[in-house]
Amino acid sequence: MLNGDFLLNAQGEDVVSGARTPEPIAKMKRGALAKVYGELERIATKLERHFKDVQDIEFTFERGKLYMLQTRRAQRTGLAAVRISVELVDERLITPDEAVQRVPPQDLDQLFHPMVDPDAAVTVVAKGLPASPGAAIGDAVFDADEAEALAKQGRKVILIRPETSPEDFHGIVAAQAVLTARGGMTSHAAVVARGMGKTCVVGATDIEVDPHGGRFRANGRVVKKGQLITVDGTTGRVILGAAKLVEPKIGAHYAKLMSWADERRRLRVRANADTPHDAIRAREFGAEGIGLCRTEHMFFEGDRITAMREMIVAPDEPGRRRALAKLLPMQRADFEGIFEAMAGHPVTIRLLDPPLHEFLPHGREEVAGLAKVMGLSAAALERLVDSLVEANPMLGHRGCRLGITYPEITEMQARAIFEAACRVVARGKKVVVEVMIPLVAHVEELKRQAEIVRRVAQEVFSAEGRAVPYLVGTMIELPRAALTADEIAKEADFFSFGTNDLTQTTFGLSRDDAGRFLPFYVEHGILHDDPFQVLDQEGVGKLIEIAVRLGRGTRSDLKIGICGEHGGEPRSVKFCHHAGMNYVSCSPFRLPIARLAAAQAALEEQGVINRTKATV
Ligand code: PEP
Ligand code: MG
Repeated sequence: MLNGDFLLNAQGEDVVSGARTPEPIAKMKRGALAKVYGELERIATKLERHFKDVQDIEFTFERGKLYMLQTRRAQRTGLAAVRISVELVDERLITPDEAVQRVPPQDLDQLFHPMVDPDAAVTVVAKGLPASPGAAIGDAVFDADEAEALAKQGRKVILIRPETSPEDFHGIVAAQAVLTARGGMTSHAAVVARGMGKTCVVGATDIEVDPHGGRFRANGRVVKKGQLITVDGTTGRVILGAAKLVEPKIGAHYAKLMSWADERRRLRVRANADTPHDAIRAREFGAEGIGLCRTEHMFFEGDRITAMREMIVAPDEPGRRRALAKLLPMQRADFEGIFEAMAGHPVTIRLLDPPLHEFLPHGREEVAGLAKVMGLSAAALERLVDSLVEANPMLGHRGCRLGITYPEITEMQARAIFEAACRVVARGKKVVVEVMIPLVAHVEELKRQAEIVRRVAQEVFSAEGRAVPYLVGTMIELPRAALTADEIAKEADFFSFGTNDLTQTTFGLSRDDAGRFLPFYVEHGILHDDPFQVLDQEGVGKLIEIAVRLGRGTRSDLKIGICGEHGGEPRSVKFCHHAGMNYVSCSPFRLPIARLAAAQAALEEQGVINRTKATV
């Protein structure tokens, strides 16, 4: 089928410059040009069949004689790439294997989000990191409460912050998109927005946010509260005014391509999902389990954050136990919902890993609110908070270090997990539980945490009169853990690579501050890619390979996956396949990308094997 334009009595520049408007090519079908059209159609079909792909053709004609000027592979959007590949199989020009290999996995991202019309003229006011794809339009708002209040009135808003933290969560939920001046691809805003499938640009270092003044400055322009902007999370652009958006439509072609991909991949795909709602969505995107449930994220919503903060700032064990007693039913209910949604697929629940700077109360209002709940004076609470402030929270009292020093936290979480599992099993459903210990550096940390988990499991099973199968494993997200994986595997049923922290600690590069200089590194070729987006195969990858080899040396059946953000990035997924992992886990919206990349990795490997056989 021909699709295009033509222009009579013209030079190529007339079309490119837009000086004259061309006519639709279908107009050539009738009248004096019908013969030329017929010939063009015949040659175009021949070219498409020869190259087995859609062609972008340039031609001219003079006095009824057709001249072909150029043919090349046609550019295409993600949606078109899917359709073309499937239709070429239907026309028997290519095989399903080739169709799967032809679509760039990253392009599938465009299928699920509106995007800025590529043909629209736009005024870009700043650029940041494309943290979560799609495009959204709304009024600039600089405060989470205000974002929520305006959204309740039916207004569409964009939440703009220097950076976000859990107290902005309700604002992120309410906003169409999130824009931050600071932060990298694994910063709070990026991870949370991506999990929700919400458009997000982070690390837009050109912008200077003044939340109190309700404005931001960027490249000599000022954008004030209420002003309309467009955030393009696919390219990282911040655009003045309302850009024209286009809505992709997914359909049968997509379903067919994905079924071919699923038949061909060896890697399983799981989702990073923290709530029953996310778990349901993850299933819709093809998740075969949950690879990471970040339990601290379960406390973002409503007044849950207060109970979580109470636990964090509790000055002693009784205080902590009081707060934990409030958290237990919330967690148990969420776990029940997640187990139900996953219908017997494995669910990896990670014990709490709250970097303190994300969870401590900020500002007078939050301190006053929490002080009231805890029956303390604001001054007393402020002193407690001050005593907890860390110089380097990403390397501080987080992960299993919390459960090691305060075992009651691990006890509460294990209880919530196993009670929930027993309740769901009692309703006749299957549950597969995997308890994951975060930020382990030394095998002794894992051993002690695993002992608590196993003891509590036994207590719950005795009380409930039933047992549920479960595994206890660990994240491998610190270089020491990777290098001592043989020791760690003695205590672990599974490994999951936390490549966000592993990248942070291998490079010695803060996840939250990298946005200030990493783009410069990439722009100037010091690094090829942002290592928080694309796995650094030579460095971090080497640690992964060492850990896989050492871990499987101890336990040949060790189940191994990845749950860092790289689990949804095509080149990184292919690396995981070759490293011999069992699964990748990523945010629900990136599951299609992971599925397709995993299939391509399997086909590439087969291709190599077949080629090797042919030369032997
Ligand atoms: C990681 O470090 O890769 C990970 C998945 O954990 P988090 O991002 O929660 O630190
Ligand atoms: Mg981590």
